[in-house]
Amino acid sequence: MLNLILFGPPGSGKGTQALRLVERYQLCHISSGDLLREERANNTPLGQEAQKYMDAGQLVPDAVVIGMISNKIDQQWDSIKGVIFDGFPRTAAQAVALDEMLAQKNTQINQVIALEVSLEELTQRIVERGKVSGRTDDTAETVVKRYEEYQNKTLPVAQHYKQQNKLVAVKGEGSIDDITAALSTVVDHNIGQ
Ligand code: AMP
Repeated sequence: MLNLILFGPPGSGKGTQALRLVERYQLCHISSGDLLREERANNTPLGQEAQKYMDAGQLVPDAVVIGMISNKIDQQWDSIKGVIFDGFPRTAAQAVALDEMLAQKNTQINQVIALEVSLEELTQRIVERGKVSGRTDDTAETVVKRYEEYQNKTLPVAQHYKQQNKLVAVKGEGSIDDITAALSTVVDHNIGQ
């Protein structure tokens, strides 16, 4: 199996690039943000619980997100070649939980690829995206909170995987195609191609 994490701050292009890598390597895409938005759209209890945190630009509590991802993995597992995790894990506790979930399935994370983008560029991208995404959290005000959450709670995830020698950084600025090419070079190297 090939299990990857696309890591980076909000607006770094994780979702866009994940879709391209999923196609290239025939992987399953698991995006915690997309799953939470789906729960909200369906007005489930989980979606209702998540809503207040998402609208405030805060992380949804670990127990909620970990349970949701664990269910998703269990549903899809038998038919997949591997996973690209996008937006998960976002705290050290989520990273530990993910490592345990995968160990139970006799597999592990192969690589964590961190997309590096300046705060200026991130803010610009999110405000632009907000004009078309309809996402209530894509605003200049919320992006500040989301970035703060990233710095305080999510950066330790990079440290967690750095200690496992699995972290690689890729420049996330430039053309979408060039970034996909850089990511593919990293993945090809990982799978020995
Ligand atoms: P995203 O689409 O990844 O930018 O996520 C949008 C929002 O969903 C975030 O600002 C959080 O409120 C919530 N969220 C997504 N993934 C997670 C996660 N792994 N842990 C906690 N909250 C999350």
